[in-house]
Amino acid sequence: MNFEILEKEKECGGLVRSLQKDGFTFDYGGSHIIFSKDEEVLNFMLNLLGNNKIKKRRNTKILYKGYYVQYPFENGLADLPKEDNFECLYYFIQNLILKEKGELKIPSNFKEWLPIHELIRSLNAPKEVKEAVDNLKYNSLITVMIGLDKPKINDFTWLYIPDKDVLTHRVSFPSNYSPFVSPEGKSSVLAEITCNTKDEV
Ligand SMILES: Cc1cc2nc3c(=O)[nH]c(=O)nc-3n(C[C@H](O)[C@H](O)[C@H](O)COP(=O)(O)OP(=O)(O)OC[C@H]3O[C@@H](n4cnc5c(N)ncnc54)[C@H](O)[C@@H]3O)c2cc1C
Repeated sequence: MNFEILEKEKECGGLVRSLQKDGFTFDYGGSHIIFSKDEEVLNFMLNLLGNNKIKKRRNTKILYKGYYVQYPFENGLADLPKEDNFECLYYFIQNLILKEKGELKIPSNFKEWLPIHELIRSLNAPKEVKEAVDNLKYNSLITVMIGLDKPKINDFTWLYIPDKDVLTHRVSFPSNYSPFVSPEGKSSVLAEITCNTKDEV
């Protein structure tokens, strides 16, 4: 198969490329794992890797109001404070009733999810499409990578922190993913911070 890679950065790999420093390895775009619900796709990727892979059971939590809630959130309702537990169940049942009556509003934020601004700009798209794309909002990501001179500090794969008062929204622990991404007896932490260009971060 012939192919040509066009890459504007010095290294290819995009969000999944790695930074290696002092025996630590971090993913630039936030810690990455291989997963897919599509078995064919998953097997294709795993076969390409041969023996160069590690299988782990994910241990991820959401740090919510000081409680470690099982991830995904809907599987961890029992870990929530009682009033939040009630609220989730209350609105879940209310939505079921609205759905039954055909009154459930369909989410309308799909256009905000797609990072298509670059693509559309380079196409010969109509003026109004280009203008609409220019008005799309998206977040950038800053990753803070920390190598610790300490062995394993916890058993978490990553923690979500949905708290406006906390700068990072997700902290991962790469050395819990693989023993090969930190020197022996050391461990690592990676914090992800989403921001907009005008934000003071
Ligand atoms: C925080 C975070 C965590 C994620 N975790 C996971 C995970 O655990 N597992 C998973 O499967 N996926 C994960 N993803 C998604 C995954 O990162 C993306 O699906 C994947 O990186 C997309 O690959 P890509 O090659 O399409 O784009 P990118 O990785 O964005 O690569 C695009 C490449 O194109 C280059 N480029 C851009 N413009 C130009 C140009 N004009 N000329 C030449 N080159 C150009 C860029 O420099 C870059 O190298 C995560 C994403 C994020 C943001």
